[in-house]
Amino acid sequence: MQLLPTISLYVYRHLTTIVLLMCCLFNTANAGNLVKGDIERMVDYFYIVGEILPDIPAYPLFVRDAANPDAKPELKAYVFESIDFAPVRGYSAKPINLLIQIDLSGNFLRIRLLDHKEPLFLDSAGTQKLERFASQYKGLTHRHTIEIGPFNDPGLRDENVAHVKGVQQGTITVKAINRAILTAATAVATAKLKNGADENVTAVGSAAIPKESKEVKEQKLTTASEESKALNTSSKPVAEITEPRVDADKVSNTSPSAEKTNKLDATNTVAMAGSSKGVNDNSSATQLSVADAEISQPTSLNNDTQSTINSSRELSIQASERDDWIASWQSRRGHIAILLTGLVVLSVALIAQLRFSANPVRMRRLRTLYLLFTVVFIGWIAQGQLTIVNITAATEALSSHGDLSFMMNDPMTVILWLFVGMSLLVWGRGTFCGWLCPFGALQELISLIANALGHKQCRLRAALDAKLKRVKYIILIALMVSLYVAPPMAELLVEIEPFKTAISLYFVRDWPYVLWALFCLTLSIFIYRGYCRYICPLGAALAAMGFLRFWSWIPRRNECGTPCQSCRHRCEYQAIEPTGKIDYQECFQCLDCVSIYQDTERCYPLIQMKKISA
Ligand code: SF4
Ligand code: SF4
Repeated sequence: MQLLPTISLYVYRHLTTIVLLMCCLFNTANAGNLVKGDIERMVDYFYIVGEILPDIPAYPLFVRDAANPDAKPELKAYVFESIDFAPVRGYSAKPINLLIQIDLSGNFLRIRLLDHKEPLFLDSAGTQKLERFASQYKGLTHRHTIEIGPFNDPGLRDENVAHVKGVQQGTITVKAINRAILTAATAVATAKLKNGADENVTAVGSAAIPKESKEVKEQKLTTASEESKALNTSSKPVAEITEPRVDADKVSNTSPSAEKTNKLDATNTVAMAGSSKGVNDNSSATQLSVADAEISQPTSLNNDTQSTINSSRELSIQASERDDWIASWQSRRGHIAILLTGLVVLSVALIAQLRFSANPVRMRRLRTLYLLFTVVFIGWIAQGQLTIVNITAATEALSSHGDLSFMMNDPMTVILWLFVGMSLLVWGRGTFCGWLCPFGALQELISLIANALGHKQCRLRAALDAKLKRVKYIILIALMVSLYVAPPMAELLVEIEPFKTAISLYFVRDWPYVLWALFCLTLSIFIYRGYCRYICPLGAALAAMGFLRFWSWIPRRNECGTPCQSCRHRCEYQAIEPTGKIDYQECFQCLDCVSIYQDTERCYPLIQMKKISA
């Protein structure tokens, strides 16, 4: 019975390792999935939405002049999802998707944030901040040089350069949004507008326009006047649609995007056939054919031209990503230098662990100073809190496109993960959890303050401690699995980490999150690093990777465990087994036992030797 919890913990760790590795194998697809009906709703039925273009995944938008209902509707704009052209990844490794409307001069008419998984902006307030950021592009063009300033930037703009207000704590995210908008708009403008701006607008034949329902017409009449005001245009909504035509023969799939076009057309058709309400109900037999839409296009691309555009688009995304992260690294030179110095100091101390821990009082003081450095500099100033989101993002990125370059935008994260990766091989999880995790350090400092005030944390029974240690593995497994089977659940589970609240957002957040962070911190007054030992999914992930460690670095004697239990009883993390064996997956590298190992007052064998030699 005594061994059962230990064996179970062992099994949990290996199960977690397997789940982590398997998550890298599952693939997640990234492509826009709006169909024509969705687009119609999203442009508020102000435009007549044509069929998706055969050569690029964009929809033409037409307007009929209400003053002259017999006139042919005119092509006025294009609308498209950024993810189809530029699956740019932010902090979460998931592409940010925007719905972009450009007019025939390439001006942005409207940009809507469709989807994002940026961890700091998942709540409605955060999403609104990103929407506000994207809305600043209205009136600009893809030809503008966009400068993202601080959140209080005055936002000056002229014909060539525009300053937009950034978002606090969101540099990486807004840069990704900027890149997604400009890359996607450039791709559409290059393919569809002359010199990136169409001057010859061609009318589309009235025979090609789909019918509308009464409800849709009424809705258009309501929304059109508002949008007209917004666009400063005299155009009015379409009053009548006549003579539908389906021209399936002309839907030729000759471009790289033909597969998507087919998929979307098929989806559209199914949606129209199966829907019981909405615009498609009354136009199911009457879609604007791709060929008709093509008539209105100023330019048409052959396969070679399109593939040239595609490859130059890829190159341009890569180049712009590279520019972004080079700029990030340059702008954070000071932080990088301090962090590297801190890591060198830590490495020297850990390599020379016997010397470093020879004097317990000095070691305690130095350790406390380092923990302060971790909380204040690494955490609050440099925003270098590693998080489980880094792991979920990396596994998703590896499974979907095998590219981790999105992380390069955050130099602190990259440097810390490289260091943690190397230290995992040598010392195990303890180097990060014991020294470099700001939230972990904050807990320990709180415990130390409680100790200084005379309050001692309670020590759980070994069996209960072992059972509770399983909880973090269960949380991590649930999180990783839900990433693939129930993503909204994963978003919820990620919030178990109070790092974002306590470190990244300085406790300025909705009260349930603040309450949870305070609970985790308060726990450390009663149980030493209680959150770390029993709840933390990041700690569990690092522990599960413990099999990579090749060195049992804590010095041991034959007497460790039998008969001596000195270290075991003093290890605040309960990481030493009754046999004297170190459980490195639960060890936080505090060096207390290394200090005891050479202490003639606390190490039983040394005390015995001292007595014999006296
Ligand atoms: S267990 Fe979690 S909170 Fe604790 S130090 Fe490790 S990563 Fe940080
Ligand atoms: S005292 Fe415990 S936590 Fe600290 S180094 Fe030793 S085994 Fe690890």
